[in-house]
Amino acid sequence: LAAADGSTRPTIFAEMSALAARTGAANLGQGFPDEDGPEWIREAAIAAIRDGGNQYPPGRGAAELRAAIAEHQRRRYGIELDAEREVLVTAGATEALTAAILALAGPGDEVLTLEPFYDSHAAAIALAGARHVTVPLVPTVEGFRLDLEALRRAVSPRTRVILVNTPHNPTGTVLTGDELSAIAAAAERVDAVVVTDEVYEHLTFDGARHLPIATLPGMRERTLTVSSAGKTFSLTGWKIGWATGPARLVEAVLTVKQFLTYSGGAPFQPAIARALTEGDADVAALQTVLDARRELLIHGLHDAGFATVRPEGTYFVCADASPFIDGERADASPPINGERADGSPFTSAEVRNGADFARWLTEHAGVACIPLSAFCREGSATAEALANWVRFTFVKDETTIRTAIERLGELR
Ligand code: PMP
Ligand code: GLN
Repeated sequence: LAAADGSTRPTIFAEMSALAARTGAANLGQGFPDEDGPEWIREAAIAAIRDGGNQYPPGRGAAELRAAIAEHQRRRYGIELDAEREVLVTAGATEALTAAILALAGPGDEVLTLEPFYDSHAAAIALAGARHVTVPLVPTVEGFRLDLEALRRAVSPRTRVILVNTPHNPTGTVLTGDELSAIAAAAERVDAVVVTDEVYEHLTFDGARHLPIATLPGMRERTLTVSSAGKTFSLTGWKIGWATGPARLVEAVLTVKQFLTYSGGAPFQPAIARALTEGDADVAALQTVLDARRELLIHGLHDAGFATVRPEGTYFVCADASPFIDGERADASPPINGERADGSPFTSAEVRNGADFARWLTEHAGVACIPLSAFCREGSATAEALANWVRFTFVKDETTIRTAIERLGELR
């Protein structure tokens, strides 16, 4: 199965991580932490395995985890949920998002996302056979901001779903109340469902506050909120995610989910239930550590000659690699001699864009990153505008980040 728009190709994250492993590059590409999450949470999963929590959990998820998710939404955001009917545990946020799109959209429907977008969002839309319509996030001095005029133009009577992501991967944008209100108004105008990917809900900086769109007036009834434990507790491999919202939307996701995985992650579910209930201090500690690494990486990138947009959330920073592109570094040392994804070679004068640059940087300068083109539709205006941009993650240990900065420093 190959979607015509290329969205179901092998993921860029796997490709760049493999390249980083093969070349010994400092991997600031794929977003997963070097350090595992809190030991007490891991011990809780080990205890669950010892205590016999190893068979299929209920399809909707363990009752204690559903209760903990409902309580988390109430305590953090004032969202009241019926843990029986309005909470569904999934195999990571990825399953919740893909199942939601498959359930809610099909041929003839349009699904709107921001652009750049997380890669699985586009693939899910392609698998559903729906049409992908995008609204640009534009780099400004205030960060990457939503183009409100483009949003107004993009919605149509065929818009079934508006897929939001805040805090946003890859830009680090935390959508403001005004931006979310504009999205809410657009959804109401054409009676669309909002699916919101909030996996970075607890990773915000500079006093930015994550605002769930479900809390806006009138939005609870049309919003399906998706999140996961992976980022919040540095346990990305456990793949415990969830979808919450009105029973009819949760039921729609369950209809698809039961035939994707039915259920999963039995011993991890009670551990995450405890993490959500008792883990606030660990989340705050992670935020503090990440904040310091964000500063470190941003300064390193600036010193190496990149322009960046300061992220208010997530663990990514986007950088404009233009100074290193289009032959401007033709006489640079080390000389640029790279290989494209299709195996064809290129030299300094031929680093045409961020995708070339990311591969070259990984192989020859020992630092892996992800080109923003991987988060854009091929040939779109946003893809053009961000052609020379790449994303670095700061969720790696300090030594890895310092090594990367040292290597980037040698580019000058
Ligand atoms: N959404 C976004 C925006 C992401 O960055 C990621 C990747 N970490 C996911 C969803 C996937 O989350 P999970 O690992 O819980 O499936
Ligand atoms: N979400 C992670 C990132 O953006 C990658 C997860 C994955 O590899 N699917 O880097």
